[in-house]
Amino acid sequence: MTIQNPTFDELARRAAARRDQPAYGHDALITCDRVVRVFSTEGVEVQALQGLDLLVREGELMALVGASGSGKSTLMNILAGLDTPTAGSARVAGADLLTMTAKDRLRYRRETVGFVWQQTARNLLPYLTAAQNVVLPMQLRGGQGWFTGKRVRRARGTRALELLELLGVADCRGRRPDQMSGGQQQRVAIAVALANAPAVLLADEPTGELDSHTAEDIFAAFRTANETLGTTIVIVTHDQTVAGEVRRTVAIRDGRTSTEVLRRTEVDEATGQEAVVAREYAMLDRAGRLQLPADYTRALDMRDRVALELESDHIGVWPDDSTPSGTSERSGAD
Ligand code: ADP
Ligand code: MG
Repeated sequence: MTIQNPTFDELARRAAARRDQPAYGHDALITCDRVVRVFSTEGVEVQALQGLDLLVREGELMALVGASGSGKSTLMNILAGLDTPTAGSARVAGADLLTMTAKDRLRYRRETVGFVWQQTARNLLPYLTAAQNVVLPMQLRGGQGWFTGKRVRRARGTRALELLELLGVADCRGRRPDQMSGGQQQRVAIAVALANAPAVLLADEPTGELDSHTAEDIFAAFRTANETLGTTIVIVTHDQTVAGEVRRTVAIRDGRTSTEVLRRTEVDEATGQEAVVAREYAMLDRAGRLQLPADYTRALDMRDRVALELESDHIGVWPDDSTPSGTSERSGAD
């Protein structure tokens, strides 16, 4: 039970194979299709998710951003198997999050997903050392109870140490959470989340309680996990530096995915210099609905109605140029 350390060539081959896959398709590891979550408290209904679509490919490291209250944590709780959508469909690594049985759900939470929460205290048990915290999920999964053979115990201990080493916190193995810094605790928390080699690692504002320098270390740890173990990782973050370092950032607005930014490295043909090019995309739903970014529509003072034109390779969107008191169009409608 050791962590596979693939060679650089093997990693490059895997990365290339992933790049050649269609961005979206049947091989998505996470598929959310029109996910709705309505909370009812004291007769008041809150639509936390209002038909959210999201696809995440296997091996991706991506960020989710959005204003407070936009539904990010609601989505993460659903993906973590802690909450169930009111409607829509959500599948992760072959598991159907709406229909799975309680038994399957428990196994899903133990084996398919790992999570890291913002509150460092929620991630680790205070009376266990870092190494014991990492071993615990393996014991819970084990099925052989607490009384396991010496060999199994040793293998688990070895794996825990390897994970702590990978994330740069091997020196904390014998320390309890209160003997570690916030950044060390979060890196140990990532090791705990990876203990059972989950297909997906979910993190809800994992750097929210940390300073920006420490946040960079945490992000580097996620990247290491993604690149070394191939784990698919979804990070909810407010942190612009984190959002600026991943290839894909999806923005959630009012319980729906609104826009996403893709970054690519391009080589300038003239100078040979590498530059990162970011491009913004909007999600087009099945009904053809499109949400334009607020800063775009504000810049051109677009409201209520926009003019459209179909061109051979794009659709033009213009501010409404008909004046309120009557172009031929409007007066004709009277
Ligand atoms: P975010 O994580 O993006 O800040 P949340 O997913 O926590 O947003 O919340 C989205 C909306 O759903 C908010 O209006 C919030 O008040 C509401 N909400 C979240 N959880 C519950 C709950 N358990 N009961 C009632 N309302 C909730
Ligand atoms: Mg939240």
